[in-house]
Amino acid sequence: MHITRAKAFGTCFGVRDAIEAALDPSFSGDLTIVGQLVHNPQTVQKLKDHGVQIVDSIDDEISSNNVMITAHGTAASVKTELESRGYNVFDASCPLVLRVHTAVRRLVDEGWHPVVFGQSQHVEVRGIVGDLEDFTVIGGEEDIEKLSTRDRIGVVCQTTHRIRDARELLDQIRARFPQMEVQFVDTVCKPTKDRQSAVEELADELAAVNGLMIVVGGYNSSNTRKLLEVCKEKGVPAHHIENEDQLEQTWFSEVDHVGITAGTSTPHEVVDAVHDRIVVLSPN
Ligand code: SF4
Repeated sequence: MHITRAKAFGTCFGVRDAIEAALDPSFSGDLTIVGQLVHNPQTVQKLKDHGVQIVDSIDDEISSNNVMITAHGTAASVKTELESRGYNVFDASCPLVLRVHTAVRRLVDEGWHPVVFGQSQHVEVRGIVGDLEDFTVIGGEEDIEKLSTRDRIGVVCQTTHRIRDARELLDQIRARFPQMEVQFVDTVCKPTKDRQSAVEELADELAAVNGLMIVVGGYNSSNTRKLLEVCKEKGVPAHHIENEDQLEQTWFSEVDHVGITAGTSTPHEVVDAVHDRIVVLSPN
């Protein structure tokens, strides 16, 4: 049985750099992260083992002197508020998330109504819209009607959005509101695009040879679930797991080729452990 890893998978540089910053020994456990840094249980546990506290919002109790903004970024007003409360604020925002903030500011300055394709409750999206007075978040086709009163919209994407879904949504918006002016700024980040195209390529290979895909990542990780969606669209059976203990021997009894991919918050050592376990479980 062949085992192939996708050409791009796992932790992106933005998440990796933020984790390294949070684990810096100089914090000596005196650090709180606001908002989940990664949607990966093993990494969250590692941070907690280093004494790092994690809270959902600045309204939760923060008992440390140091506070970190995650790779997903935050609204400038949140940073200002934390500083005014006397915390030392460390900003680990990914530069590719800050690029989205900049794009939205420019669109608003130019008079476009800002629209974000993404999940309204995701920490990154909350950060993008947090300082805006008027905005619309579109999670899918069901939200398009929210735009019915708009003449000019400027659209950006959550960095982990599927670019193909974004283009389909744009087509639907243009068809529904043909008079509307639409400016689109593609803000899906390169690591996400690389992982999406790599899983598509590998899924095509697996579809041709009775293959199976193992997708590794937190159950609450949206970009991991999108990798799973790709497999379903390609007709490739796939299992979503968080760690190697969830693999089942029966999955591999009748497949010729197993592919492995992982979301942008899954550490490579978790993927290594999954790969090793598949080797043990495979029939030959
Ligand atoms: S997914 Fe993209 S934007 Fe988000 S932290 Fe990683 S590299 Fe940065």
